[in-house]
Amino acid sequence: MADIESIISSISACAKEPTKDDVIYLEECSITGYKNIFEEGVFIDLLSFECFSMKCLKYNYNRMSEKDGNKRHRFYLNIKKKKKVLDKIEQSEITNLNLNSEGGFKESKVYKYEYNYAIYDFETNIFIPLEKVDENVKRICTSIINHKNEIKKKEELSKWVNEIKESKYAKNLKQLDNIKIKNENLECAICKAKTNLWLNLSDGYIGCGRKIYNYGGGCLNNEEGAALKHYYESGKKYPLVVKLGTITKDGEADVFSYAEDENDSVIDPYINIHLEKLGINILNLKKTEITTLEKEINENKNINFSSILDKNIEPVCEQGKIGFINLGNSCYMNCALQVLLSIKEISYKYINNIPNFLLTLNSDTNKTYNDLFLQYAKLCYMLFKKDYINKKKEFIKKYKQECFNKNIITNYDSDIDDENCISINPFMFRNCINTKSYIFNNFSQQDIYEYLSFLINELIDNETNIFDRILSSSTICKNNKRGFEKVNNGVCDLVSNESSENNES
Ligand SMILES: [Zn+2]
Repeated sequence: MADIESIISSISACAKEPTKDDVIYLEECSITGYKNIFEEGVFIDLLSFECFSMKCLKYNYNRMSEKDGNKRHRFYLNIKKKKKVLDKIEQSEITNLNLNSEGGFKESKVYKYEYNYAIYDFETNIFIPLEKVDENVKRICTSIINHKNEIKKKEELSKWVNEIKESKYAKNLKQLDNIKIKNENLECAICKAKTNLWLNLSDGYIGCGRKIYNYGGGCLNNEEGAALKHYYESGKKYPLVVKLGTITKDGEADVFSYAEDENDSVIDPYINIHLEKLGINILNLKKTEITTLEKEINENKNINFSSILDKNIEPVCEQGKIGFINLGNSCYMNCALQVLLSIKEISYKYINNIPNFLLTLNSDTNKTYNDLFLQYAKLCYMLFKKDYINKKKEFIKKYKQECFNKNIITNYDSDIDDENCISINPFMFRNCINTKSYIFNNFSQQDIYEYLSFLINELIDNETNIFDRILSSSTICKNNKRGFEKVNNGVCDLVSNESSENNES
């Protein structure tokens, strides 16, 4: 039996305080993607501050001991995060389309988090509660837990804000003379529909709104909305339309721009003047229809992905078929990754080499979360290994059950909460790429082709480096010519526990 007192007294020598330049991921293993919400939690190396799951500790311990020989990387801060369903649930009003910010769309708060911290000693397999460790170690753990990464701050900025801008066509909008709209018997010029009518602010044409996928819209004869058709037929000269029934006497109105460079809801600051020219006095108007924004909020509140699929299609979630979380304008990256990752032969090559990538990573110059090969392999791992999927399913099932027991209805189809769906959150990969490319180091929309070719080039350009890295390492069995798949120290349980599925590749 190990002497706990002597173990506790040796932690200090194997731990250091993080500086503000250190990057610390507290939520997810940088190798397997295991999360702190999973049963065993995550483990933060008290010297390198890298985040691991239990099954990676052996490799980390070995590679670090090999390097400095004094086995200092034996202690880890274990973080377990529990999602507890609240007893009392408050409803909040949604007033705009912003995600997770004031007034914006968010899941009503039905849970809170509870954290459990301990020091884990890899050598003796003992967990030591934080209350028992000395003041120095306590202080170090507190600064790790409260560490604010520069990366985190940037993530904060990525909130997906749906901002409605002033239309550039509003100020000098061309309006035809002598057009007077009577505020009675308004109907679509084509199909005679009486709701969802859009008035062209230039020529007074009234027609149905455009068709929106999974939304409805369009004319009663199932054709494209007359208002949009009219925009094209009249030579794309008159882009601004206002939805009848949304105009209030305060001058608020749902204005849409069909102009190709806008094609969005817009603000028309001159709406009073524009309507007056068409013979409409807004003081006589009151709002009767819901606006596009209100419609979108309703839609978002009730988002259900099964509704956009054909009736006989079942959503799948299994090995090789998992969605990626949109991090805010990152769909181009997700598409490129899904394409590349779908090539099973390559993906399994990466998975099988995870232990090698980890064992040969130069810990003086690089970190696991910044190594392109490890980070790419990690995505392959999460996508193709059953254990990540199963652990995530387990977590959701448990939480759902708790909600069910307490009679709480939650929306599990939401793609916003990473925890409510079997999904992959590629934030660590994106941060890794961001350190290598200034082009993609922002939250703007990008071209998928450009990203895909950048990624392929990065992986190919560095392939020689990775082979050199693996060949020159003493940790790896050099006699194995079949793609460096075995490690010489013990069974490689990171990749071997599902050997039958590897044969599929
Ligand atoms: Zn119509």
